[in-house]
Amino acid sequence: MNAKPITMVDLHGCYLAQHAEIDAAIRRVLNSGWYILGQECEAFEQAFARWSGARHAVGVGNGTDAIVLALKALCVGANDVVFTVSHTAVATVAAIELAGAIPFLVDIDPATFTLDVAGLEKAILSCNVGKPRAVIAVHLYGHPCDMEAIRTICNRYGLLLIEDCAQAQGATLGGAPVGSFGNAATYSFYPTKNLGAFGDAGAVTLNDDALAERARALRQYGWKERYLSDLAGMNTRLDEIQAAMLAVRLTRLTGEIARRRAIAAIYDSVLGGVVEIPRRRAGAGHAFHLYVVRHQHRDQLATALKQVGVGTGIHYPVPVHLQNAYRDRVALGPSGLPETERASREVLSLPMHAFLSDEDVERVATEVARWAKTYGRPSTKSP
Ligand SMILES: *Cc1c(COP(=O)(O)O)cnc(C)c1O
Repeated sequence: MNAKPITMVDLHGCYLAQHAEIDAAIRRVLNSGWYILGQECEAFEQAFARWSGARHAVGVGNGTDAIVLALKALCVGANDVVFTVSHTAVATVAAIELAGAIPFLVDIDPATFTLDVAGLEKAILSCNVGKPRAVIAVHLYGHPCDMEAIRTICNRYGLLLIEDCAQAQGATLGGAPVGSFGNAATYSFYPTKNLGAFGDAGAVTLNDDALAERARALRQYGWKERYLSDLAGMNTRLDEIQAAMLAVRLTRLTGEIARRRAIAAIYDSVLGGVVEIPRRRAGAGHAFHLYVVRHQHRDQLATALKQVGVGTGIHYPVPVHLQNAYRDRVALGPSGLPETERASREVLSLPMHAFLSDEDVERVATEVARWAKTYGRPSTKSP
């Protein structure tokens, strides 16, 4: 009776789809005798910069370091306030503190789960914890933030703009790729992301030549040349094996994002009116890292799906400002983050990855629709 389980992600599938090329890439690196920051890293950086429409890409150790490095390259640090959302991976906020700056968390727009622009301006005006310096716009779930409005605010108050694109490889707004709207953009290649490595990896993309050179130095002890540190840097290098594997994965990325969009279209067609489905901003090309629905009885839905072999996720169950490590400590606007807290109780991520078949997706959608029909009613008797 039990059909095969349908999982949120299929990381092994990513390997199997290109196993011969990935095996060859690993062997090539092992036989090269050069394992950190070499030709493979350079080749991947060039390919990824081209793919994402940036002048420069700087490969780093992970997506958290990418944010730290971007902030350091832009000279954001002690006493500087960085505005971002609480409805994000803890990494976004952790990175601000790791760079020595002060996070200030803003509420989200409930329709798109991204930074609320009116709330951002209020936060800037009410900020008394340090000098407002930068905004990190998180393109959560693969859906772009309202970049025009955010950039207007950044220009008005003289703030730097960084895009956290960890979930948004392949997303566009008005035809322009995410990552092209700010002073720097950061990426994670954690295995579950749209472009996943087989280990940890990340990148910063930049369009300014001097800034890119500074970021390259900062990623490795601030070295101008070997053993000569011009800047107080960090160590966050991309290793050659991950770079070589990422270059292989990159060749499939456009197709995989198209597949994610096709899957989203199937979900939409069954689930519109059944649960709250992802809304798209006008002009947005959603990259569907996650397909997130919303329902007041989210936990019951997750349980019902689990019982029929469908895996789900919650991104994220506890907003950063309510996490033990941050609560009562990070700065928030005067009216709190009610939409963030409501979203954390209502969001549910359905299976989404390039290796789902149409039948898998239809089965998940049908199960959601079946649950929605009966939930909340007194226990229905089966015929
Ligand atoms: C995954 C993620 C990060 C952190 O990336 P790591 O590679 O895990 O360090 C940062 N921001 C967002 C929005 C993410 O989803």
